[in-house]
Amino acid sequence: MLSTMSAKPIDATNFVRIAELGRQVLAGHDLTPEEGCWLFRLESRGDISELLVWANRIREQFKGNKVHLCSIVNVKSGGCPEDCRFCAQSAAYETSSPRYGLVDQDTVLAAAKEAAANGVAALGLVAAWRGLDEGPMLDQVCRSLEEIKRGGQVRADASLGMIKSQKVADRLAQSGLECYNHNLETSPRFFPQVCTTHTYEDRVQTLKHLKQAGIKICSGGIFGMGETPDDRCDLAFALKRLGAHVVPLNFLSPIPGTPFAHCAPLAPLEILKSVACFRFILPKQEITVAGGRVVNLRDLQSLIFLAGASALMVGNYLTTPNQPVEKDLQMLKDLGLDPKWDKHGFSDQDDRRHRATPHPSPLNLGNIQHPTSNAQHPIPRGEGAA
Ligand code: SF4
Repeated sequence: MLSTMSAKPIDATNFVRIAELGRQVLAGHDLTPEEGCWLFRLESRGDISELLVWANRIREQFKGNKVHLCSIVNVKSGGCPEDCRFCAQSAAYETSSPRYGLVDQDTVLAAAKEAAANGVAALGLVAAWRGLDEGPMLDQVCRSLEEIKRGGQVRADASLGMIKSQKVADRLAQSGLECYNHNLETSPRFFPQVCTTHTYEDRVQTLKHLKQAGIKICSGGIFGMGETPDDRCDLAFALKRLGAHVVPLNFLSPIPGTPFAHCAPLAPLEILKSVACFRFILPKQEITVAGGRVVNLRDLQSLIFLAGASALMVGNYLTTPNQPVEKDLQMLKDLGLDPKWDKHGFSDQDDRRHRATPHPSPLNLGNIQHPTSNAQHPIPRGEGAA
């Protein structure tokens, strides 16, 4: 054991193991589920600080200083027949979320214009309903996707619930849809605690239809609902197996009126640890910090990049406000991160591309030969972030 100025001793054996796993990922080897769960179960501030150091190196190697920005527009709000227990838009709960039907095309195009003006790469059209079938709704959504694609300013993404037929997924692909968001939310074990009106398997099946249509998968989850570290780990490995390209991580912002309204907020260091573990397990994927960032992390938001995040949702969330985009852009500028790069079509996730030489940026903590040198630590030992 090493002693520090803080009361708690640091377990040097954990440092060694974290470093070994970090080197393993940097060398292009996958973690096993057991190794991933070991990381998710780390608890001390010293261990988590060490984990962040390595997650940052992994991000630097595979993502450089590039940051993907996305935003969303709620094209149909509230009154959803599903009962996801965290959600303000479920008709099962009394919340103050607005309710309106499918918006017109002009509203969608105005959102695309605004997103482009803010340097955002992708705009997701999001609807609160069970899913999308063939019919007039699909026709209208496809027209909007085609218009955004024609405009060429932002990538048109979508999050339109479950897709039960391959024909619908194929039609979306033909309309120019490149990437579809459908979160698995949590592990299959914990999912019944989150939703009872559809199953985890329904969600997996939607992702399979999308994949078969050639649409990139954006799928992640929400933390802070009472799930265990192992549930989070299982989610990360499920997403790896399914080949998710973008992995949005949401952190519960309890909504009055929902069954999860009284869940205790996650500690910021627990959030950063989760982001870091996802980076270890999914080194090349776009790991996006999405809902609950401002309310849960407050002054520690910028540490998400040291924890391995490579993407950020900017602009307002579906039912809760975000901080102004200008503030996020300033944060990225201060960190030396580049948000205006993403017209790439996920080429940095191509396996044929190399294991990169680390890109220089102020967040690159440098020499990986001396992982426990204090000089390289963004969070001094004994003065952890939480
Ligand atoms: S399906 Fe989506 S909109 Fe509907 S309740 Fe669940 S999370 Fe909310």
